[in-house]
Amino acid sequence: MIEAPARRGLHGSNGAAPAAVATRPSLGALWEVIAEVPDPEIPVVSVVELGILRGIEWDLADASTLVVTVTPTYSGCPATDVIMASIRDALFAAGVTRARIETRLSPAWTTDWMTPDAKRKLRDYGIAPPDGMSAPGRLTRETALRRGEIARGAGEAPTSSLAATSRIDVAGISPLRHGAAVACPRCESRRTQLLSQFGSTACKAHYRCLACLEPFDYFKPH
Ligand SMILES: [Zn+2]
Repeated sequence: MIEAPARRGLHGSNGAAPAAVATRPSLGALWEVIAEVPDPEIPVVSVVELGILRGIEWDLADASTLVVTVTPTYSGCPATDVIMASIRDALFAAGVTRARIETRLSPAWTTDWMTPDAKRKLRDYGIAPPDGMSAPGRLTRETALRRGEIARGAGEAPTSSLAATSRIDVAGISPLRHGAAVACPRCESRRTQLLSQFGSTACKAHYRCLACLEPFDYFKPH
């Protein structure tokens, strides 16, 4: 349970819940608030574009408590705590008096859940986005969208252009298969060379482009 600091003077200590219900922001507005929270490691991408926000709802037992459900990207990812705190802070700033962030670990997050916008922004930021689909057996973005497990990004067309054209044989953040050609985010050349299985963070590999000679990180399919 994560609770906002008491807001003295906003509501009386008695009957706070009905007052909160009367003045609480709409879920749609709060979704937009969370959609502005950036990923701490890749600030151009929001947590919604990353695909980790699973849902928000008012607590049935306490109508002034917002329950936020999040699926972390990787277990042990150091960014997760920062993301949780940022979501909480944004909600309090938007007028939510109490928020509880719950983690849902199943189905596990996969890079397939990133929106097409997120992948474009990654590339613009200088990070090669995950290429192809994650390991077979994972819940794909299409399926997750259909089941309502994840939400569509703003402005995203109902039918995703993602296609399972190639599957890269990786599980979790295990080493990449040798010879997988990753396109340089700067010049788009696929003449690239893997330098290290781990880049600035464990979820990325470090590459060098043999065409423009720039080094870059590759967000590994997961
Ligand atoms: Zn290049």
